[in-house]
Amino acid sequence: MIKIGILNLQGAVSEHYDITKKAARNMGVDIVVEPVRYAEDVQTCDGIIISGGESTVIGKLIFERGIDKVIKENNIAVFGTCAGMVLLGKKTDFDQPLIGLMDISVKRNTYGRQKDSFESPIEIFNQEYQGVFIRAPALEGYDKSKEDIKVLSVLDDEIIAIQQGHNIAISFHPELTHDTLIHEYFINEVLNQ
Ligand code: GLN
Repeated sequence: MIKIGILNLQGAVSEHYDITKKAARNMGVDIVVEPVRYAEDVQTCDGIIISGGESTVIGKLIFERGIDKVIKENNIAVFGTCAGMVLLGKKTDFDQPLIGLMDISVKRNTYGRQKDSFESPIEIFNQEYQGVFIRAPALEGYDKSKEDIKVLSVLDDEIIAIQQGHNIAISFHPELTHDTLIHEYFINEVLNQ
C-alpha cells in the first residue's frame, strides 16, 4: 500500500490531509495518509505534499532536518502547492534554501501581497477548476530542453502549474477547495511510478 506524507512543518497541513483522504476515497484506493515531520518519517513515504505557508521557514526546517536528502536519495514524488512550488524550484528571486527538484525558476509573490489574494477559475487537465491564490508565486521560467517537463496550467500568460517526472508544482491552493481533481492526479502519479 502506498503512503503519502503531508509535510507538517508549517502552513496548511490539515486541509491537505483531509482532501488527500477524500481524493483516495473518491478513487476507491486504499492508501496511507500521514502528517510527517522528520526525515525518518519522510523516508517511509512514496509521495509527499508540501503545503502553502512561508517557504523560507519550511525550507529552513527541511534542510535542518535533512528532509531534502531523504527525498532525493529515495526519489520520493513531491507535490508542492504555493510555498511548496517555490521549494521545488532550482531558483527564486530570494536568497533561501530550495530543494531544487524541478528545473524551474519561481517568482515569489507574483500576484502581490496578502491583500491582493484572489480566486479565479482556471483550466487544468481539460477541466475548469477554482484556483485560490494567496500571495501566490508563478514561474519565471523553466528549462525547455527537459523533455520530462509538462506545463499543466496557465493563467493570463503566467505558468501556474507544472510537472516534471513525478513532481508537481502549483501556485494555488487546491486544499482550500472541495475539488479533489489535482490530489487524485498526484495519487495516480504515485501509484503508477
Ligand atoms: N509567498 C509565500 C512564499 O513564497 C507563499 C504563500 C503561500 O504559500 N500561500 O513563501
